[in-house]
Amino acid sequence: MTLTDPRYAVLFEPVKIGPVTAPNRFYQVPHCNGMAHARPNALAAMRGVKAEGGWGVVSTEEVEIHPTSDLCPAIEGRLWSDDDIPYHARTVDAIHEHGSLAAIQLAHNGVAVANHFSRLSPLGPSNMSIVWDFGDPVQARAMDKDDIRNLRHWYRAAARRAKSAGYDIVYMYAGHNMTTPMHFLGRRYNDRTDEYGGSVENRARLIGELLQDIKEEVGQTCGIAFRFAVDEMRGSDGITWDEEGRAVLEMYGELPDLWDVNVADWSNDSQTARFAPQEGYQSDFIRHVKEYTSKPVVGVGRFTSADGMVGKIRKGELDLIGAARPSIADPFLPEKIRTNRIDEIRECIGCNICVSGDNISAPIRCTQNPTMGEEWRRGWHPERISPSQSPEPVLVVGSGPAGMEAALQLSNRGHPVTIAEAGTELGGRVTRESRLQSLTSYIRVRDWRAHYLLTRPDVEIYYDSKLGADDILQFGFEHVFIATGAKWKRTGVGRDNRTPIAGLDQIRVLTPDDIMDGAEVTGRAVVYDLDYYLMGSTIAETLRSRGCDVAYVTDSSKVASWTDYTLEQSRVQTGLMESGIKLHLNRTISKAAGDRLTANCVYTGSAEDIACDTLILVTERAPNDGLYLELKERKDETEKAGIRTLECIGDAYSPGTVAAAVYSGHRAARLFPNCQDDPDMFKWERPEVA
Ligand code: ADP
Ligand code: SF4
Repeated sequence: MTLTDPRYAVLFEPVKIGPVTAPNRFYQVPHCNGMAHARPNALAAMRGVKAEGGWGVVSTEEVEIHPTSDLCPAIEGRLWSDDDIPYHARTVDAIHEHGSLAAIQLAHNGVAVANHFSRLSPLGPSNMSIVWDFGDPVQARAMDKDDIRNLRHWYRAAARRAKSAGYDIVYMYAGHNMTTPMHFLGRRYNDRTDEYGGSVENRARLIGELLQDIKEEVGQTCGIAFRFAVDEMRGSDGITWDEEGRAVLEMYGELPDLWDVNVADWSNDSQTARFAPQEGYQSDFIRHVKEYTSKPVVGVGRFTSADGMVGKIRKGELDLIGAARPSIADPFLPEKIRTNRIDEIRECIGCNICVSGDNISAPIRCTQNPTMGEEWRRGWHPERISPSQSPEPVLVVGSGPAGMEAALQLSNRGHPVTIAEAGTELGGRVTRESRLQSLTSYIRVRDWRAHYLLTRPDVEIYYDSKLGADDILQFGFEHVFIATGAKWKRTGVGRDNRTPIAGLDQIRVLTPDDIMDGAEVTGRAVVYDLDYYLMGSTIAETLRSRGCDVAYVTDSSKVASWTDYTLEQSRVQTGLMESGIKLHLNRTISKAAGDRLTANCVYTGSAEDIACDTLILVTERAPNDGLYLELKERKDETEKAGIRTLECIGDAYSPGTVAAAVYSGHRAARLFPNCQDDPDMFKWERPEVA
C-alpha cells in the first residue's frame, strides 16, 4: 500500500456529516451534466467513476422535486414520484460500490423555470415574470399559504424518496438564483407583506422550515446539507454577505449537518479562468462562514493544487474541498494525491466547455478529459485503456492537442510513437493561443500531455520536421495519424457570408494566426468576428491593450455570442465596452476600400462606414488537410509503402474547439485499428415503449 505524503494526510481524514461519515475531505459538489433524468445509465457510470477516483462524497445535479419545478429543456435530475426512485438507486449503487457517500441536491426552482414540459404555473414569492435565460413570456404566481404548505410537503416527500433510493446526504438548495427558498430570501423578488416577507428573518423563514422538515423526515439516517449562496455579487440589489448571508448563518448555523457555500449566480460561482485566473477565487466571500457554525463547511474555487487544499483546511476556512470542474477534468484527482502522483493530475483549465454541454442539453464534455460523458456509452475510463493487440510503431504528424492526445493514448496502448512537428515546440494551437491575453490556462492542455510524452522512452519527438507526402511514403510507418491543424481564412468567408469580402486587396488584412505570429498592429484595427467564441474578443482586447483604436464588428447581436453557453458572454462584452472598444453589432462587412470598410445592418441592409487601417478576420478556419488528401490520393503508393492506417484527426479533419481536437485524437487512439467509428461502439438510451 502506498503511504500518502504526510503533507497531504489531512485531506484523507474522515469527516462526520450528521449521522454519516465522509471517508475523506474530497467532495464532488452537485453539478449538471446534460444526462440526468434522460440518460440514467450514462449518469450512473459517470458518477461511479468519480467515486472510484476517490471523491469521498459524490453528489447529483439539481433534482426537480415536483412538476411545478420543471427545467425543460435543461436536463436535470427528477424525483417527482416513487417511479423515479430506481433511476436514482442506480447512481447511488454506482457511488456506493467504491465506498463513497451519495448526495442528492433537491430543488424546487420557483421563478427560475417556465415549466415547458409540465405546463403548470411556476410558483414564487410574488407575482412576477420568470427570470431564466430564455426570456419566456411566462409569469410565476405568488404562493399563498396553501402553496407554501404544499411546497413543504413536496420537499418532505422528495426527501423520503431520496432516502429510499439510498442517498446518504440530502440537500436543501438555495443557490445560483435558482430555487424557491432563495427567491423568498432575496429582496428583489419578495414583495410579500406576511410573515414570509419584509425583514430578513421573515424572508429566511422558508429556509428554516424546509431544513427542519427535511431533518425531521430523514435526518436520523441521512446527513442534511444546505447549499447556500452567501452573496450574489450584485450589490445591495441582491443577497449580500453583510445582510442575508450572515443573517441566515446566525439563524440556522446549527440546523443542517453541512454547509455547502458559494456565490451566485452560476456565472459567478463557475467563473472561467479568463475572468478568475486564480483558484480559490470565492474565498473573500466564504472564508468567514465557519465563524458562524460548528458544522462542516464545503466550498469550491476550481481547486487543483494539493497544497492549496491543505491550506484551506489548515487555515480553518473549509472542512471539505468542494469541486465540480476539477472532478470533471480529473475524476482521479484524490487518488493521485493519495498515491503521491500529484504531477499526474489533469488540471481543469477553467474553460467551461463542460458547462456548455448542460446549457445545450447535451451530455457533458470536457476539454481536458475526453472520457467525460463517455463512461457508459463508449465504455471509456479516464485512467485505463486497453492494450493494443499488435502494438506496431505509429507516426503522428503534428503535435497540437489532437496529435498529442492521440500520441499519448497510443503510447498508453503500447505503441512506440514517433511525433513529427513542423515547429520548434509541442502544443500547436494551445501553445500559440495561450500566449494571448486571457487564454493562458490553455497551456495546461499541452503540459499535462507533455509531462508523459517527453519522458517516455518509446516516444520520439522530432521538431523542425515539416513532413510532406514523399517523406511519409519513405519512412516505412504502417500507421500514420495526420494532425496538422487548421488556419484562419483570409477572405472574410464565414457563417452565412459565403462570398469573399470585396476589396480586401486594398486594405491590410490579418488573421489571428498573424497576430499569434507577432504581426505589428497600430492605429485603427477592426476585428470582424463570425466565429462567436473566444478568438474575436480576445484579439480585440489584446490589440486594445497594445494601444490600438479597436472596433469590433459581428453579425450577431452580442459580442462572442456562443460564450453564453460558457457563462462568459456578459463579462466578455462588458470587458470590451469598458476598455473602449467600439461595438458594431448586427453588421456584416461587405467591402473594403482605402482605409474604409462598409458594414451593413443584417436587418435593413443600411450601410455604415468604419475607418480601418488593419482588418483582422476572425471568421472561420480552413483545415490543413493537404497532406492527408494527397496521401489519400496516392493510394497505390501508400499501399506499396505498406501504409495500412491513414487517419486525419483534430482540426485538420474539421476545425472546432480544443475540446473537439482532444476528443478526436483520443477517439482515434481508442478505436485503432478500427478508427472509423463502429456504430455498435456507441450506445444510447432510448425511451421505454409502453
Ligand atoms: P489540432 O488542434 O488538430 O491538434 P493544431 O493546429 O493545434 O491542431 O496543431 C497542428 C500542429 O501540426 C502544429 O503544431 C503544426 O506546426 C503541425 N504541423 C502542421 N503541418 C505539419 C506537417 N506537414 N508536418 C509536421 N507538423 C505539421
Ligand atoms: Fe475544466 Fe474546461 Fe474540463 Fe470544464 S471543460 S472541467 S472548465 S477543463
